[in-house]
Amino acid sequence: MSESRPRLIREDGLRVDGRKPEDLRPIRMEVEVLKNANGSALVEYGGTKVIAAVYGPRETPKAVQLPDRAVLRVRYHMAPFSTSEHKSPAPTRREIELSKVIREALEAVVFTDQFPRASIDVFIEVLQADGGTRTAGLTAASLALADAGIPMRDLVAGVAVGKVDGVIVLDINELEDEYGEADMPLGYAAGIGEIVLLQLNGVLTPEEFKKAVELGKRGAERIYAQMKETLHKKYLAVLES
Ligand code: ADP
Repeated sequence: MSESRPRLIREDGLRVDGRKPEDLRPIRMEVEVLKNANGSALVEYGGTKVIAAVYGPRETPKAVQLPDRAVLRVRYHMAPFSTSEHKSPAPTRREIELSKVIREALEAVVFTDQFPRASIDVFIEVLQADGGTRTAGLTAASLALADAGIPMRDLVAGVAVGKVDGVIVLDINELEDEYGEADMPLGYAAGIGEIVLLQLNGVLTPEEFKKAVELGKRGAERIYAQMKETLHKKYLAVLES
């Protein structure tokens, strides 16, 4: 093994940040964080911080309208200050790809057919990147859509599973993503039991893949419960005010 590659599983079996393989990072979430958007959410998975804003359903120019449903547009963007090296603010190929996979995941749950000829715009801004920005972004987007009152079949919770030093681990951070053997982001609509996003970078055996999907689903269920609690709290606050 080369000198520069850090050990990702310690002698005691714990990960670089002291977590067990099946542990999530500390997760924080809040909705209604922006005054001018129809819906918004701030989500933190450890050092990863993402904000999502939703506008719509609103009128859209004829050229982009669809006659039978709303157009869902998603922009995933990393702020120039979100990474250790200043990132160019111009959209990269990676950001264009991530916008597309997040849009496809959300299209699986949003009832776009209720708003023909309208558009629903979702902006995801990564404020600080420490691994799992697309999955934290998906969770934030789903919360922001719910906050905007957009009808959906279910909420979607995102989480990335990885393989590091031969061990399948939940919710990988940047170091684990960079030096691990595999990285598998997953979006799970836990209420209806549907996986709406699944990507795999690296190699897993069929047994490891099965284990990774199960671990991802269990992790996403915990995030999903926290999402529901966050939305519930918002409505309790409205009732109490
Ligand atoms: P994800 O953030 O969904 O895990 P990637 O696997 O592409 O997506 O990226 C892993 C991590 O690498 C990111 O979370 C971020 O911490 C870091 N990273 C990604 N793009 C850049 C970049 N342009 N500059 C510096 N770090 C980056």
